[in-house]
Amino acid sequence: MSQLNLLVVDDSDTQREYALALCREIGVPRLRDARNGALALEQLRQQRADVVMVDLEMPVMDGVELIRHIAHETLAKAVIILSAKDPVLIASVGTMAEADGLPVLGTFNKPLNQDLLRCGLKQLARVSAEKVDTTRPEVTPNQLSNALRAGHLSLHYQPKLTSKGLLLKGVEALARWHDPEKGTISPGQFIAVAERHGLIGTLTRHLLEVALQQKQQWQKRGVNFNVAFNLSPLSLADPGLVDWIASLTAQHGIPPQEITLEVTENALLGELASSIQTLARLRLKGFSIAIDDYGSGFANAQQLSRVPANELKIDRALVHNAATRPQQHTILQNTVAMARQLQLITVAEGVEHREDFELLRQLQVELIQGYFLAKPMPADKLIQWMQTDLARMRKELG
Ligand code: C2E
Ligand code: CA
Ligand code: CA
Repeated sequence: MSQLNLLVVDDSDTQREYALALCREIGVPRLRDARNGALALEQLRQQRADVVMVDLEMPVMDGVELIRHIAHETLAKAVIILSAKDPVLIASVGTMAEADGLPVLGTFNKPLNQDLLRCGLKQLARVSAEKVDTTRPEVTPNQLSNALRAGHLSLHYQPKLTSKGLLLKGVEALARWHDPEKGTISPGQFIAVAERHGLIGTLTRHLLEVALQQKQQWQKRGVNFNVAFNLSPLSLADPGLVDWIASLTAQHGIPPQEITLEVTENALLGELASSIQTLARLRLKGFSIAIDDYGSGFANAQQLSRVPANELKIDRALVHNAATRPQQHTILQNTVAMARQLQLITVAEGVEHREDFELLRQLQVELIQGYFLAKPMPADKLIQWMQTDLARMRKELG
């Protein structure tokens, strides 16, 4: 607490004064305040804070948007969320912030009291320690471009099964880097590096070719299922992308209907117009479009309705443990209902437990993907997996 730097953001003068007084009482040494999200952002860009206490309902820039900026620009170590609205809404904003990598110390219904605030702030030490533990050394752009040239990047495939009957509808292709010394490096460690250092175009083109060749191999062996491929938001701004994907798919003798392109919901928030144009052109050519990681960011139903997608992938943050968390269960249920209204096929990601699987079945989510059914695997393992594990699971769960 001795060095703690905290910013209170609330449009109501009374509420703001009240929160500042509480903070002083419990001994927060460095306090600032702002009347709305835009002013808060200005202050944070000048000097970051340890904790930002945010009211959700504010004019000019509301708390949800402010939290998104704080997460993306890493302007604070953590947030505390306050609102007079119902607890389910507050909790869902909290879930989204955490999925964006911004720890939430507490989500509180107003009025806040001293004990709650003290408890919340105590969490800061814990989340800061966790953050340090999980930071891994980043790979350098040079290492990545060498790996690309040496052919050390490949794909693993994770099955997507129908919740009813456990039919193999498709697989998602996931990038893997096999380093002769370091072993397997996960995409979390190199996709962002590729994006920041101009390597994402080369990487995407290389991997899509690998995926299409693999699909062709499976086709030759008489197994047909959809292959989903992840596109970086940056690729959506590449004007040559659509024609390139279409011609490469045709060269491999693959109908576009059998390929799904996954784009994260956050990709749809920025350069919306050009991204939507790219996606619309892909849809016109017959490809499927999936909105990935839904529920981890801040896209709303109205934004989704403008995207020419046919599939909604519900993020692990909303799925994992939903069976035992009533609020999360409600949010998940509402998300499924919204997807249905928008006529989107639903896919639940990150299903790890039987209870969550049963819940998703009950909610009639169409497709299930997660460790509970299968982990991502090399291509040559997939057919064997279908014959052994999948057959066994159908007997047990079908
Ligand atoms: P994603 O597209 O959301 O992919 C799903 C991630 O969740 C994968 O992580 C997968 O291994 C993991 N996963 C699947 N089921 C479970 C589960 O039950 N529990 C848990 N805890 N995790 C599960 P992975 O392979 O590490 O990929 C991470 C992210 O990297 C992907 O998230 C995607 O955004 C990105 N990525 C992967 N391959 C590519 C690629 O070829 N191109 C681009 N642009 N991005 C890629
Ligand atoms: Ca994906
Ligand atoms: Ca995802």
